[in-house]
Amino acid sequence: MDASRFRDLDVSPRILLGPGPSMVSPRVFRAMATPLIGHLDPDFIALMKEIQELLRYVFQTNNHLTIPISGTGSAGMEASLANFIEPGDDVLIAVNGYFGERLCDMASRYGANVDRIERAWGEVFEVDEIGKALGRKRYRLLAMVHAETSTGALQPHVKEIAEATHRHGALLVLDTVTSLGGVPVKIDEWGVDVAYSGTQKALSCPPGLSPITVSERAREVLRKRKTKVANWYLDLSLVEKYWGDERTYHHTAPITMNYALREALRIVAEEGLEKRFERHRSNAEMLWAGLEELGIPPMVPLEYRLPTLTTPKLPEGLDEAKVRRMLLNEYNIEIAGGFGPLKGKVWRIGLMGFSSRKENVLLLLSALKEVL
Ligand code: PLP
Repeated sequence: MDASRFRDLDVSPRILLGPGPSMVSPRVFRAMATPLIGHLDPDFIALMKEIQELLRYVFQTNNHLTIPISGTGSAGMEASLANFIEPGDDVLIAVNGYFGERLCDMASRYGANVDRIERAWGEVFEVDEIGKALGRKRYRLLAMVHAETSTGALQPHVKEIAEATHRHGALLVLDTVTSLGGVPVKIDEWGVDVAYSGTQKALSCPPGLSPITVSERAREVLRKRKTKVANWYLDLSLVEKYWGDERTYHHTAPITMNYALREALRIVAEEGLEKRFERHRSNAEMLWAGLEELGIPPMVPLEYRLPTLTTPKLPEGLDEAKVRRMLLNEYNIEIAGGFGPLKGKVWRIGLMGFSSRKENVLLLLSALKEVL
């Protein structure tokens, strides 16, 4: 093996304004350079407790079972379904974008009978239509996406949806991957039973952990299962023994990622949730105004437009991939294209966490003006 063929890692620093990962504070990178300690070291256990406390703050919950799952957002999604579905259960999934589809695929792999309620990509659901759909059968759970990264739509009325879900005896599972830390996510006030997220979006930490929070109602469902959770790695009844008082070995926690998450959450707490939401909102508004001026207005109506991810509507005939390549090669700016039914029709511009800065908005808008 000629090792000299493999040169030093040399990656251009990019301005990450896509759907994730977002940019990461140098403080988080410094935390990641902290020496490793054992995953059962008392110092690491103290740090785990702090991470849980900080996660409860961002999820706005007192849920005891609030932990980072080892794995990206999809691991949190998988844990949120695998633990609460038993083979043959009826589940209802609200689909208005790509990640709703992924929820259906995952739920069916755990033996659920999946019923869908659908809206076109870019739309959101009314409380009444969800309520009607819940009345069709005795569902084990309703799963839906709070912030659809494929469309830029933010589902409103989660509290009312949670109330309807509970009236029908089901659990509400909510995907908060693109909302947590960027827009309000009020787990206890809304009555959400299970919510999961990812570290790499508005929390501004590298990808690798998936925060999850589980209500007492959902924990009761987990305790009453008749069958074993079909996924050993994500079985919360086992994982919680490591994160709970017993601290027994389950898997080796990714120490460095937990250092990173703790620092990223500390930054969130220092800024304060309200100020952070306000920053995301005002930078997004500045972007929206600039996009209007460029003649590529956001696709999603203002009423339920997501501040963390914007989808400008592109004119027909625009070689959008070429524009994105030019942004990357000439300005080091990453944005993403649409996919599924929105392929070629929109871009996906993320302003999340550390990326959500006035100077990034100005740079992107002036680069777009030049390139277009
Ligand atoms: N859910 C939503 C809404 C997402 O945007 C993503 C990722 O973009 C995921 C789930 C899956 O997360 P990951 O790619 O980190 O596994």
